[in-house]
Amino acid sequence: MEDTVSVRCPYCRERVELYVDPDSQGQLVEDCAVCCRPWLVTIERAAGRLRVQVTRAQ
Ligand SMILES: [Zn+2]
Repeated sequence: MEDTVSVRCPYCRERVELYVDPDSQGQLVEDCAVCCRPWLVTIERAAGRLRVQVTRAQ
């Protein structure tokens, strides 16, 4: 299963490869590797598919 996803930073708009731990699910906070601002990362797993959304953590 692919555990690295390409996401777009909601602050600097850079595309960043994000590694998702195989056991992680739900929400976590991760800093952007480019601009270091905090993302709220939402991880969903359904029917063997990984879905990741990144929004600004406030
Ligand atoms: Zn950024």
